[in-house]
Amino acid sequence: MTSVQTIGSSVVPTADAHVRLRPIDGRGIVIRDGLLADRQRVNREITLLRGAEELERAGTFDNLRIAAGLMSGERGGWVFSDSDVYKWLEALAWEMGREPSPELEALARDAIDLVSAAQEPDGYLNSWCQVVDPAWRWSDLKTGHELYCAGHLIQAGVAFARAVGDTSLLTVGRRFADLIDESFGSDARMGTDGHPGIEVALVELYRQTAASRYLKLADTLTARRGSGTFADGCFDLSYYQDAEPVRDARSIAGHAVRALYLAAGVTDLYAETGDDALFASMLRQWDELASTKTYLTGGIGSRHYGEAIGDPYELPPDRAYCETCAAIASIMWNWRLLLVTGESRFADLLERTLYNGFLSGLSLDGASFFYTNPLQSRSGERRHRWHPVACCPPNIMRLLASLHHYLATTSDGGVQLHQYATSTIRAVVPVAGPVELAVETGYPWSGSVSVEVLECGDVEWTLSLRVPGWARGAVVDGQPVAPGYADLTRRWRPGDRVVLELDVSPRLTAPNPRIDAVRGCVALERGPVVYCFEAGDLPVGASLADVALQTDAAPADSGPLAPLGGFPGVSVAGVVCDLDGWRQVEYVDVREVPRDSAPTPAQLLAIPYFAWANREDGGMRVWIPKSE
Ligand SMILES: [Zn+2]
Repeated sequence: MTSVQTIGSSVVPTADAHVRLRPIDGRGIVIRDGLLADRQRVNREITLLRGAEELERAGTFDNLRIAAGLMSGERGGWVFSDSDVYKWLEALAWEMGREPSPELEALARDAIDLVSAAQEPDGYLNSWCQVVDPAWRWSDLKTGHELYCAGHLIQAGVAFARAVGDTSLLTVGRRFADLIDESFGSDARMGTDGHPGIEVALVELYRQTAASRYLKLADTLTARRGSGTFADGCFDLSYYQDAEPVRDARSIAGHAVRALYLAAGVTDLYAETGDDALFASMLRQWDELASTKTYLTGGIGSRHYGEAIGDPYELPPDRAYCETCAAIASIMWNWRLLLVTGESRFADLLERTLYNGFLSGLSLDGASFFYTNPLQSRSGERRHRWHPVACCPPNIMRLLASLHHYLATTSDGGVQLHQYATSTIRAVVPVAGPVELAVETGYPWSGSVSVEVLECGDVEWTLSLRVPGWARGAVVDGQPVAPGYADLTRRWRPGDRVVLELDVSPRLTAPNPRIDAVRGCVALERGPVVYCFEAGDLPVGASLADVALQTDAAPADSGPLAPLGGFPGVSVAGVVCDLDGWRQVEYVDVREVPRDSAPTPAQLLAIPYFAWANREDGGMRVWIPKSE
């Protein structure tokens, strides 16, 4: 196998790609301290190992053992459950690349051997088909998930090659990709998968191997969408991303995870082909999604039926679906759009999604998960140790293990810092040679970010610091800077240091008034972190249904939340209303609405949204009515 890329990052555009920014070798970025470091540590020490236990307990490994002829029995679980193993393997790869681990390596070795043993001589690999009905192969593209699962296999193989230099799983994935190309790459067999995911994998396989057949196959499969192939199913065509050709799409709709995985793959396809129609479609869809179909948390998907994105402004907080996988797919897409354009709006949405709609998917102890991430729960939610459809848990693991990839990039002229964490960043900048930076910050809790140059060439180059869109009054070394990138072009020398100051004081946020479900409400944010209120923190006897916030007093920090990682709590002035006149569902003549008695003033405690459901059961809400 010829490898043309050795950079250990999760997205690696080729030298000719249409990108303004380039990822830094993942091995060159180390998050040393802070919230994101803690999440990576918990993933390594707890979550990845739990993943192995749960995949065993759920029978997901057994399915592959039966397919490999290593044991007998009936296949269990969903048709797509092989992909859970592949995503977990991808997570192991990035984690082993971050820091070697004999324990993780042994788990990975066994699993790769198992996957390899299960592969058919012709390259086919899908335990459902192999065990349950070999005649089923390629017969149910709409719901079969064969290409989807292959996509995750390929991504895991690419990750092992890039992160630890092991190409054994990539060889398995490539053999399957070759079979898929022979089966679908010509007009011999039309169609594509009802669940996108193969597209992004094929572009990365092309990047990793330099074999153009995989890029062409990604383009072919993408071009086949929108032909109505998947009509007459349980869901409409948008569910399968088959309602309209990708190049013509004016709107983003349907199953959120499918839509966003496809968008990530199509953006990669644009990056490698320069097909402007694809890029224009991506920007149209992103604009609509970001401005009308995205929750405050970055979560996407407002309908449980069809796990769908919903209409513009259809963003009910209690019925929010916001699958954790959709947040992950959104981060994947925004990262690719950032590389292509260099525009901060994509890093902004990535940040919003990362700190809120994504981190909420994992408990603080790393041992339980959320599949959906609503912004309001009237009776509270229990996190789950695993899910019957276990797409989210290993997806969380692979993103946490590769989180450092998303901090910074290079361009011809410098280094760009997009996300802030105490970290060391080593990169090679074309004009300046090797550059090493040390970032010290308490972000996201503190808005002070210090960047020290440890090493660089004796030439002029540009250090660009992202000023988030939410930041007001930001300064760099005392000079005001506007949201976007603060570009600092200097002849830097080792020991030079700059400080970015962002105001992370708690602030109240109003929703777009077109969002009927939260009209008249406000939410609390602090820096990039969305806050929420949990029932257990309310004054005794009060209900989350009866509180309102006063917007004429500024919310203030209330000190560290001891049971919640020491994260800062926020105190905000509110009232507890007396709604006794509305004890049951009733509808009265507007002239006879019960008169409220005077509300009781109360200081209300808010906690970071991502940390909810880590203490006792009880309700939660992000959006709270403004007091009259
Ligand atoms: Zn999921």
